[in-house]
Amino acid sequence: MASNNNQLPPGWTAEWNPENQCYLFIETATGHSQWEPPATSQAPSPPPPVSHAGGGGGGLQSKRRQYAAKAAYNDDYTDNSGYMSGLQQPPAPQQLFTPGLAGSGQFASQQNQQPHYPQPDYINGPAYQQQQQMGAMTDQFSQMGVNQGQRPYALHTTNLMDKPPDPRELLRPPPEIRLPSNACISDSPFANADPSYHRCTINAIPTTSALLSKSKLPFALVSTPYRSLKEGDPPVPLITDTVIARCRRCRSYINPFVQFVDGGNRWRCTICNMSNEVPQMFDWDQERNQAGNRWARAELNHSVVEYVAPTEYMVRPPQPVFYCFLIDVSHAAVSSGMVATACRTLLESLDRIPNDDKRTKVAIICFDVALHFFSMTPGSTESSMLVVSDLDDVFMPKPTDLLVNLTEARTQIEGLLGRIGDMFQDSHTIGSALGPAMQAGYKLISAVGGKLIVLSASLPSLGEGSLKNRVDPKILGTSKESSLLQPASSFYKTFAIDCSRSQVSVDMFLTSATYQDVATLACLPHYTSGQTYFYPAFNASKPEDAIKFAHEFGEVIAMPIMVEAVMRVRATKGLRLSSFHGNFFVRSTDLLAMPAVPNDQSYAIEIQIEDTITSPFVLMQTAILHSTCTGERRIRVITLALPTTTNLSEVYASADQIAIATYLANKAVERSLSHKLEDAREALVNKMVEVLGAYKSTMTAAGSGASAQLSFCDNMRMLPLLILGLLKNVGVRQSSHIQPDLRAYAHCLLTTLPAQLLVPYIHPNFYSLHDMPQECGTVGEHGIIMPEPLPLSSERLVRHGLFLIDDGQSMFLWVGQDAVPQLIMDVFDLPSFEALRNGKATLPLLENPFSQRVNAVIAKTREMRRGPYYPHLYVVKQDAPGELRLWALSCLIQDRSDIIWSYPQFVDHLKGKVNGTSY
Ligand SMILES: [Zn+2]
Repeated sequence: MASNNNQLPPGWTAEWNPENQCYLFIETATGHSQWEPPATSQAPSPPPPVSHAGGGGGGLQSKRRQYAAKAAYNDDYTDNSGYMSGLQQPPAPQQLFTPGLAGSGQFASQQNQQPHYPQPDYINGPAYQQQQQMGAMTDQFSQMGVNQGQRPYALHTTNLMDKPPDPRELLRPPPEIRLPSNACISDSPFANADPSYHRCTINAIPTTSALLSKSKLPFALVSTPYRSLKEGDPPVPLITDTVIARCRRCRSYINPFVQFVDGGNRWRCTICNMSNEVPQMFDWDQERNQAGNRWARAELNHSVVEYVAPTEYMVRPPQPVFYCFLIDVSHAAVSSGMVATACRTLLESLDRIPNDDKRTKVAIICFDVALHFFSMTPGSTESSMLVVSDLDDVFMPKPTDLLVNLTEARTQIEGLLGRIGDMFQDSHTIGSALGPAMQAGYKLISAVGGKLIVLSASLPSLGEGSLKNRVDPKILGTSKESSLLQPASSFYKTFAIDCSRSQVSVDMFLTSATYQDVATLACLPHYTSGQTYFYPAFNASKPEDAIKFAHEFGEVIAMPIMVEAVMRVRATKGLRLSSFHGNFFVRSTDLLAMPAVPNDQSYAIEIQIEDTITSPFVLMQTAILHSTCTGERRIRVITLALPTTTNLSEVYASADQIAIATYLANKAVERSLSHKLEDAREALVNKMVEVLGAYKSTMTAAGSGASAQLSFCDNMRMLPLLILGLLKNVGVRQSSHIQPDLRAYAHCLLTTLPAQLLVPYIHPNFYSLHDMPQECGTVGEHGIIMPEPLPLSSERLVRHGLFLIDDGQSMFLWVGQDAVPQLIMDVFDLPSFEALRNGKATLPLLENPFSQRVNAVIAKTREMRRGPYYPHLYVVKQDAPGELRLWALSCLIQDRSDIIWSYPQFVDHLKGKVNGTSY
C-alpha cells in the first residue's frame, strides 16, 4: 500500500513495511529503494512524515537535521488538514481494534473494517444513525476545548426510559482515544495499546480530581498483560539487543509517546518529564553490525513489546520450571473418576508441558489420609511408592528421585501415570491431608519455584489446613453469609505468602460433590497468581464432565508460563495507583509479586488524580519482569496513552462501559468480603445512581429537577444493564439458595476474567437458532458466521423455537415445547420433543445442513474466547424441571427474577432515585 506520497519528490513512492514497522521509499523509475525518505528539496512540500525521518546511514550531522525537521513538523503542520488527510493508514490486521491512531482519518478507516461478528446492518443501519443525532441540550460540541489538532469528543445523550438495550452495543470497540496529533512519534497502528491488553474506564482523563469526582465515574486501568494469541493476532515484538532505554528518574521504559530532544541525543520521559540520554547502542543494528534505523525500533512503534533482559535484571539465572502434581486419591476422588481422568489427561499432555530447554521437572504426590510419594529412578522401569502417614512433620524420602526430569524420566512418569488409577481403585479411604501434601510439594520445589497443581475432591480434613463444613443453611441469604466467603483458616494465606516468596504458584482443580470450601482454598491461587477451577458434582462417567475437565486441565498444563515475575504499573506524574485487584501478592506499595503469570488473567488498578495534570496526555505503563519457561529473562512492557481534558462532557463521552463494569465487578467482590453481600449490591446501585445523577445535573437541561426521562450518554447506555447483570450474578445475587462454594467460585471468575470473558459472564449471549439466517453457522471471511445476539428477555423465546444461551462458563440449548419433529430430528436425531432428555449433552453431528450449522455455532462459541474454559452444553426443554430451567432463564437478565428487578423496573428505580436526590 502506497502511503504519504504527497510529501515525496516526484518519481518516488513509499510502501509500508510491516516487518520493520516503517516506510520503504522506492524510486519508481530505477527500482532503487531506501529506508530514509528521499530529499525533498526539489518539491515545495512539507517536511517528511512524523516518525520515519531519521535514518541509520547518515552521520550525526544529518541525523540532527532530520530530527529538527520533525520538530518543525510538530509545531507548524499540525493544523494542516490537507497534509494530514494525505497520510494514509498503514495496513492493519483486520481482526484487531487499535485505538488512538495518530493521524486523523485513520480511525474512520479502521471503523470500516469488519469486526469478528457480522454486524454491518448494525454499525451503519438506521438505528445507529439515530443515535448519532444530537439533542439540542446535549450538544456540548461548541464548549469543548480543542487543542493541538485533537478532535473533540462529541457527547450523545440517550433516554434510557424509551431506548431498550441492544446487546450488539457490547460488540463495539471502546470510545476512540483521541490524542493530540503530536503525541506519538510513530504512525504505526500498533503504537497505542489495544483494549485487549489495556483499557481504561475513561479515555479522556480529567486534569483535576475535582473534575473526576464531579463526573462520579470510576477511574481504573484494566490490564491483561498476558493475553493469549489467537490465530491471526499479531505477535508481540521481541527486542533482543538488550539495549533498554529507561528513564533515570521514574524507571519507565521508552515508548512511542516520548519526545526526542537535543538533536535526538536525548529523550524526554512523558511520565516524569525527565530528559534522558539515548543509550549508545540505540541506533546500532547488532544483528547486521551496521547503523540501524532508530525509527524502526519496535519499542518506538509498538505499545506492547517484550525485551530480552540483560543479566542485571536477574537475581539468579532463569530457573527451570518445576511442576508438582498433588492428586487426591481418597474414595471420593477415585469413585468420581477424577483420578483416572486426571492421570489420563496428564499422560496425554506430557508433550505439551513447556519443556523446550529439557530442564522441566515433574513430581507426583498422591494423598488421602497419608501421603504417597513416588520415587522414579531414571534407568529403572519401575517406580516405587513411599507412604508417609506422619502428617505433623512431613519428612521427604529420597528427594532426588521424587522430582524428576520430564525428558530423562519420561518412561517412569508414563508408567506411573498409567498405574495410579489401578493402585487406588479400591480405595475406601475417607479424608484428605491436603495441607501436609502441599507442604511436602512445597518442600520439593521451593528451592527453585514452579507450580503446585492441586487436584482435590474433598474437604481437607487432616493435618495443617484442615477445614470443617461451616455451612449453616440458615445463614444463607442473611447478612452473615459473607463470613462463609472469607477464608476459614489463616493457614492458607500464610502458606500462600511463603509460596509467593519462594516463587511457587498454586493452581486448584476442585471436584467435590459436597462442600469443599472453595472460598478458603481459592486463597492459594489468589495470593500466588494461580487459578482456581471448580467442577461441582464432577462425575467422569458422564462423558461431558470428563471432556470439560480434561480440556481445561490439559490447557492449563500446556500453558506457556512466565515465572518469577514482578509487575509494576507506572503512570504520568499527578496520577497515583491506589489499589490493585486480581491474583497476586502486593510485595511493596506498588510491586506485585507473581510466581507464575497465567495467560488471559485480568487485573484492575484504581487510579487517583493527586495533582493537577498539565500535560495534554498521560501514560500508563505496565512492566512485567519474568523468566520464560524457555529459560530467558524478559520484560514485557505495555503502554497506554490517553488524552487529558478539562471538559466534563469529554470525560463522559470517552467512558468505556465495559472497563467500568470490569472494575465494578472487582469492587463488588471486594465489598462482599469486607462488608456484606447486600452492601456490595447497594454500592453497585448507588454508583449507578450517582453517575446518572451527576450526568443529569451537569449535562442535561433538567438539571437537578424531576424529569420523566433518564438521560445518559450513548456510549454508556449498556452500563445499567451490565450492573443489573452483576446484581443477578451468582457471586452477588440476593438469594438464600446459592451454595457458598458456587458463590466463592463466581468471585474467582469475577476478579480474574478478562473483559472478553467477563462480559458474557454478566451479560450472556442469547441467539435464536431455528430462524437464524442461512449464512449463520457457515464459514465466512472471518470464520464461522454467528447469529446476531438478542436482548436478554424471555419475550424472545417462542414455543416452536431453538435458542442458545451462553455465559462463557455454561451454554444452554433451549428447546420450545412446540418445536416441530423435523427440527428435533435434524438437531438431536430423535423422533420427538418427548424423546429428548434434559441436562448435559453432546450434540450429534448429523448429515443435514442445520445440524452442521448449529454445531458450528456451538463450536465457535467455545473457541472464540481466550482462556482454557470449555463450557458445558445443557439441553433445556421448555418443560424442564425447575432448577435447570430457572438456571437457564436466570441468564435472561432483563426479566424479573425472584425478587430482583427486571430491566425496565431497574431503570425506573434508578430514575426515581436520581429524581429524588439532588446533586
Ligand atoms: Zn521518567
